[in-house]
Amino acid sequence: MTHILNADLHCHSVVSDGTLTPEVLAQRAKANGVELWSLTDHDEVGGQDRAIAAARSAGLPFLTGVEISVTFAGVTVHIVGLGFDHTAPALVEGLRQTRGGREQRAREMSDDLARVGIPGVYEGALKYVGNPELISRSHFARYLVEIGVCKETSDVFRKYITEGKPGFVPHRWATLRDAVGWITGAGGVAVIAHPGRYGFTANEEYALFTEFKTLGGQGVEVVTGAHGQGDYVKYADFCREFDLVASRGSDFHSPDESHTDLGQLPDLPGSVTPVWTLLTDRVHG
Ligand code: AMP
Ligand code: MN
Ligand code: MN
Ligand code: MN
Repeated sequence: MTHILNADLHCHSVVSDGTLTPEVLAQRAKANGVELWSLTDHDEVGGQDRAIAAARSAGLPFLTGVEISVTFAGVTVHIVGLGFDHTAPALVEGLRQTRGGREQRAREMSDDLARVGIPGVYEGALKYVGNPELISRSHFARYLVEIGVCKETSDVFRKYITEGKPGFVPHRWATLRDAVGWITGAGGVAVIAHPGRYGFTANEEYALFTEFKTLGGQGVEVVTGAHGQGDYVKYADFCREFDLVASRGSDFHSPDESHTDLGQLPDLPGSVTPVWTLLTDRVHG
């Protein structure tokens, strides 16, 4: 696979908090010119067989994917896994445990929103959920837009359900060690997702990258929907400093909400080694 490739290795389906099915995503990726695709639902590999089949029908090379929620230094960090065996028992069981706390958290989020005069949000959010084990803040945001509390989901994440705002309930996800271990143990490559989003200090970020490397992590998203030009340069430098490969993915969730569509991203900088060079024997189709 070439250095310049329209790879999109990060997006979500109805199996987690996206609004399109794996089948529709495969067709959209193909129509948008994607040349290597991965479906990376949060904490769940239940959409992988559908994505593999849909990608095959569309003639679209595919890598298995997942985005695992991790708590690191008290902050939620996302680790993307690519090109692993999605039937590996330790991975499947670890993800099942990671999903476990979401229902209780969602009920507590709803109780907190009721205290500020917005009742019934748990029940309302459930209407948007494809997979009840994966109820997420995105589903809450969609319902709060539906009932007119906010105009857009991005406004919900400014006024509610984030740290310090009504409806936020802190949660302890997987450890970095577990998430990287599940991915590498299943033969895949672990990648730090959208590092520009975490708001870490330089020291905290150094600690994340150092520990990630020590645990066997190999990659970082350099070009992703949430990054700007400054992030591309910064994380391409991190690739060199930490000897990591670079990934590229839109983090597409929905035609109505995502400003970066599948495959509509700048190319990786010329200085980095693309993650797909490690995964040529893992591509389906
Ligand atoms: P959860 O895993 O339930 O904490 O939900 C996290 C999800 O909420 C992310 O994967 C995004 O899809 C969405 N999200 C988080 N922050 C924002 C934001 N500022 N704007 C839009 N969506 C967001
Ligand atoms: Mn999401
Ligand atoms: Mn994420
Ligand atoms: Mn994502």
